[in-house]
Amino acid sequence: MSDIHSSSTENSPEGFETRAIHRGAEYRESTGSVIPPAYLTSTFAYGNEHGFDYTRSGNPNFRNLQEMLASLENAAHATVFASGVTAITAVVSTLKSGDVVVAEENIYGCTYRLFAQVFEKFGVSVQYTDLTNPENYSIIENAHPALVWLESPTNPLLKIVDIQALSEVAHKAGAQVVVDNTFASSYFQKPLALGADLSLTSTTKYTNGHSDCLGGVVASNDAEWQDKMIFAQKALGLQPAPFDCWLITRGAKTMALRMEQHQKNALELAHFLEAHSKVDWVRYPFLESHPQYELAQRQMSGGSGIITVNFNLSLEDTRAFLDRLQYFTLAESLGGIESLICHPASMTHASVPKEVREGVGITDSLVRFSVGIETIADLISDVTQALE
Ligand SMILES: *Cc1c(COP(=O)(O)O)cnc(C)c1O
Repeated sequence: MSDIHSSSTENSPEGFETRAIHRGAEYRESTGSVIPPAYLTSTFAYGNEHGFDYTRSGNPNFRNLQEMLASLENAAHATVFASGVTAITAVVSTLKSGDVVVAEENIYGCTYRLFAQVFEKFGVSVQYTDLTNPENYSIIENAHPALVWLESPTNPLLKIVDIQALSEVAHKAGAQVVVDNTFASSYFQKPLALGADLSLTSTTKYTNGHSDCLGGVVASNDAEWQDKMIFAQKALGLQPAPFDCWLITRGAKTMALRMEQHQKNALELAHFLEAHSKVDWVRYPFLESHPQYELAQRQMSGGSGIITVNFNLSLEDTRAFLDRLQYFTLAESLGGIESLICHPASMTHASVPKEVREGVGITDSLVRFSVGIETIADLISDVTQALE
């Protein structure tokens, strides 16, 4: 197996699980506390030995989480932010008027909105294309972009883009590559090892895993990018709350265990759904029927916990199915221990006209499952009864 799939690097011989538990555990020596406390303070006495001054520009809980998350991404650096969208804002804020971004056309809706309604006003333009098709790579060569914005798997269609191939094309064109790694998680995918310059994650999702706070992180191996991210954290006021960092640090300690269970449950539910008569098609990166199955196997060490399904149901019947579910709460978000279900046509993509929505594959009977870590037999019997 290539080192992309190994859970350790040469300079960090410990495994992912060990690093999740033991990295980023500073600021506890004077009391002997086993777990570092939450430093709920806005300011610090001038001249302290750690160099803290004001929480917007740094806090022990930020530093602990940054050290742990950098280690889990096999990265030299990481900067934490208040949310995933805040992390995206930090990266895009480094651009200047006239800069071009080439982005995968199926990127996260809030990233699209941020580009369209905020940064385009400041002269940043974005060209969208289907980056699962290598014929479209030429757009990167022709547009001279500052950034290439990737997401893999994408939301909600779980398209897989070739991070390694696209990084090579982007670097030849003088562009930097950002990968939104939220759906795969740092446990199953290491964008920096595949050649990306930045790996960005909404830690709200799998990293924290308990649906009780928001957070974001940008990891890189480049000291210049790290300086820009720390600058954005303090100068744009994008910093997280210390207590949220404390929660995410706690959540991330069990990420490996949770991710293994998410993918086990998801694969089983995906097989069940694929065989069901009321199902039109199922997308899951580690199902052989996935259009980029080979690539997913090469690029990810696991399929993660999201499944997208198109049912053979009308809009009314799809809604009735959603209402009858007991364990899958109808809600936005994903990546928590509890199962959630999302209906893009009436939720995340409700404002998009039906023809446009259907043009990109989001039909009235399309449903996205975020498979939790409950007992799989219970989840399958819940879906069975709701489909009857
Ligand atoms: C949720 C999500 C975000 C945004 O993160 P927040 O923490 O909600 O701000 C960005 N990208 C992807 C792929 C997401 O799923």
